[in-house]
Amino acid sequence: MGADQHIVMLPFMAHGHLIPFLALARQIQERSGFKITIANTPLNVQYLRSTISKTSTNSNIHLAELSFSSTQHGLPPNTENTENISLSEMSKFFHASSSLEAPLRQLVSDITNQEGRPPLCIISDVFFGWAVNVANSLGTKIISFTTCGAYGTMAYVSLWLNLPHRSTDSDEFHVPGFPENHRFHRSLLHKFLNDADGTDVWSKYFQPQILLSIKSDGWLCNTVEEIEPLGLEILRKYIGVPVWTIGPLLPPSALKKSSSSDSSISIHGAGKEPGMAAEKIVKWLDLQEEYSVVYISFGSQNTISETPTMALARGLEASGKPFIWVIRPPLGFDINGEFKAEWLPEGFEERMKESKRGLLVRNWAPQLEILSHKSVGVFLSHCGWNSVLESLSQGVPIIGWPMAAEQSYNSKMLMEEMGVNVELTRRVESVISWMEVKKVIEMVMNREGKGKEMKKKAAEISEKIRRAKTEEGEEQGSSVFALDEFLRTTSSTKRQFSFR
Ligand code: UDP
Repeated sequence: MGADQHIVMLPFMAHGHLIPFLALARQIQERSGFKITIANTPLNVQYLRSTISKTSTNSNIHLAELSFSSTQHGLPPNTENTENISLSEMSKFFHASSSLEAPLRQLVSDITNQEGRPPLCIISDVFFGWAVNVANSLGTKIISFTTCGAYGTMAYVSLWLNLPHRSTDSDEFHVPGFPENHRFHRSLLHKFLNDADGTDVWSKYFQPQILLSIKSDGWLCNTVEEIEPLGLEILRKYIGVPVWTIGPLLPPSALKKSSSSDSSISIHGAGKEPGMAAEKIVKWLDLQEEYSVVYISFGSQNTISETPTMALARGLEASGKPFIWVIRPPLGFDINGEFKAEWLPEGFEERMKESKRGLLVRNWAPQLEILSHKSVGVFLSHCGWNSVLESLSQGVPIIGWPMAAEQSYNSKMLMEEMGVNVELTRRVESVISWMEVKKVIEMVMNREGKGKEMKKKAAEISEKIRRAKTEEGEEQGSSVFALDEFLRTTSSTKRQFSFR
């Protein structure tokens, strides 16, 4: 495996994809010394550049701008990331992303001309099945990278391809590829999927893209062999190409054993400015008891409605537990606008501040730093896969509030397969009562019963995750092995890959 190889990477334009792609680029680079070029639209390249410059020196990771004009697709100017898009315009954005095909083709051709041979491979987001055509026509290999877990990916792939809920009136149904006795409930489906019939805008995007991605030379999956046995077994069987489990794509410092607070994890998603300095948050966490804090965040782009915002605040206050809550304006308001006091119970923020009971962090928090602190006891999360891995890697159990994408399948798997999650509710527009919030928090944070069991299971998973990333010697972890195996197989001249 020569170190003079070049890999081109193409993430989907969302923070939940850019962050693990960048982490993957770093790990490939460290392991192989290969040159990496991450290609994306200009504003996302800007974000990646600022993240890279804050966190590394001497990197052989390069960035390439692919031209993209959102207005040409009927989107507002400078719309290049899902974080700026309303749900009603999301399908337009997905379809518009296919216009990156021509600039990607140009980039790969330019690299081929400059270097006298095509890049070793393109690692493209699983959402960009069209990259398979680019790679095939330019004589390079193509690997699809799913930033989701194996179970969530399998559910998303099979649900979109088969639309099994269309052939039954029942609320519960079987999803092809899953074991016969495994049932999905209709309420797990996002409205877009529930309404899909194969002719709608979403089916028209996902079905061809998934079918193309299945034709790639192999898949990389941001998970760990030992924590998702079912998901991996069925995904491999269903798509029929190798699946290398190279997760979790977290900074190595996040996987070090540490029994105290660790403020060295200052790297993840660093291109975005947090609403409160990490040092201030860590200082506050240092004052709290071990496993006592509830951390609440709904990922990089979600928010909840006004009424549940109130209920969540009341439930948190009534629970008596300390908390850190990443707040954004509720649904229907400008998500990047100012957060107004009227969206919370009267005097809430002042009361929490005076009593040092809670921290409200506006818009963006240093999530991994928070989760890695020993004071954090539970994560109230939308179950985005990065958040799930970040939480489990630190042994923190989850209270689920899945909202979109594959989050509800993740939440189901976390409950049924892993036993580390209690779902508070489902869907972005969901209505909850403060009493329910209080009850669930108390149950999960209880040091006896269900809470104790969840904590124990989360700690076991955290250990498996750490082991999977062990680098050298006889004890080499499964994720390190899989990454090496992927690099070895891809570097070999044959296009036929073998399974692990
Ligand atoms: N994130 C963060 N601070 C925030 C919100 C999100 O650092 O305030 C990071 C989080 O650590 C994770 C990513 O953004 O790495 C969100 O990805 P995830 O898959 O959890 O959810 P998505 O945003 O894709 O829905």
